[in-house]
Amino acid sequence: MELKIQTASADQLRVKPAEDTPLVFGRTFSDHMFMMEYQAGQGWLNPRIVPYRDLAMDPAAMVLHYGQGIFEGLKGYRCRDDRVHLFRPEKNLERLNRSARRMCMPEVDAGFQLEVLDQLLRLDQDWIPRTVGASLYIRPTMIASEPALGVRPANQYLYYIITGPVGAYYPEGFNPIKIYVSDEYVRAVRGGVGEAKTMANYAASLYAAEMAKKKGFTQVLWLDAVERRFVEEVGTMNIFFRIGHELITPQLTGSILPGVTRDSVLQLARHWGLAVTERHIAIDEVLATIKSGDMVEIFGSGTAAVISPVGEIHYREEGYRVGDGGVGEWSRKFYDEIIGIQYGEKPDPFAWVRVVTR
Ligand SMILES: *Cc1c(COP(=O)(O)O)cnc(C)c1O
Repeated sequence: MELKIQTASADQLRVKPAEDTPLVFGRTFSDHMFMMEYQAGQGWLNPRIVPYRDLAMDPAAMVLHYGQGIFEGLKGYRCRDDRVHLFRPEKNLERLNRSARRMCMPEVDAGFQLEVLDQLLRLDQDWIPRTVGASLYIRPTMIASEPALGVRPANQYLYYIITGPVGAYYPEGFNPIKIYVSDEYVRAVRGGVGEAKTMANYAASLYAAEMAKKKGFTQVLWLDAVERRFVEEVGTMNIFFRIGHELITPQLTGSILPGVTRDSVLQLARHWGLAVTERHIAIDEVLATIKSGDMVEIFGSGTAAVISPVGEIHYREEGYRVGDGGVGEWSRKFYDEIIGIQYGEKPDPFAWVRVVTR
């Protein structure tokens, strides 16, 4: 496939936010986007980078009715020496293709997509913030575009990538979150689509998230959908517990999204010789170990925040403070290490970084 590039003309350039204004996540987008269409029987067609623009879509486009749509989220980082890094983009492309298979959508060529990401970031490199901790968020998206009603996999798809600058997640330092355990509503059920990054999962999570917010909590702690007993995820992050000297995270059972950050934490932990276990962990065990003092720290992991320390858990009208409610030792260690690798400040023993050449 040959990538065509149409650069934005002067009047198509978008307004860049000033370096010193705080960026609200997901509101500002860069000058260019990538797109290509899929037609059953022909494959992916016309891959191109074009000025950021509206999409024209038939109101009968299948994604608008049946939710056949998937996405990814990764970041481009600007190092102190001005080089640009991607962090494990192959993992995101691998997951995109896994999501595609689960949702009966066509896969993309990962090698070609890596080149597309390089090109897109090169072209919009002035959009990658220089502020420490800030980055360029990258959102690959695939939707069913065939105009037809009727529940079946579509024959036409649109794949596109938009990017936009995002600020540091913790401009004033770590901020431990208070989370609300939902034992009424669930995010995903085993055998369902929880392990795919597909749109329906986020629609399904809104109601419980709003309820938690109204009660003054930042995120929902999701339990398994069958017994409402085993911990699955926190908001749109994976979750880790440190009990004594052991690091525990729920095993992947089909309803949990396999995070790239989760995998990175696990690899680092094993590399450092920590005791690591992927297993079922019941909410009763979590609360009992908090009460006994054996629970040293809890944190979420995801691309947006990297590590998000949990200061307090609320379950059935009772609050449980984790440790002293502050930031745990391991939370900080994983955060510093991963950020250090992403920005090229620390050695990269697993070759996680892809350098985008100019
Ligand atoms: C994207 C996502 C994560 C985190 O994945 P990363 O690859 O680490 O960013 C975790 N849970 C859910 C539900 C997600 O959508």
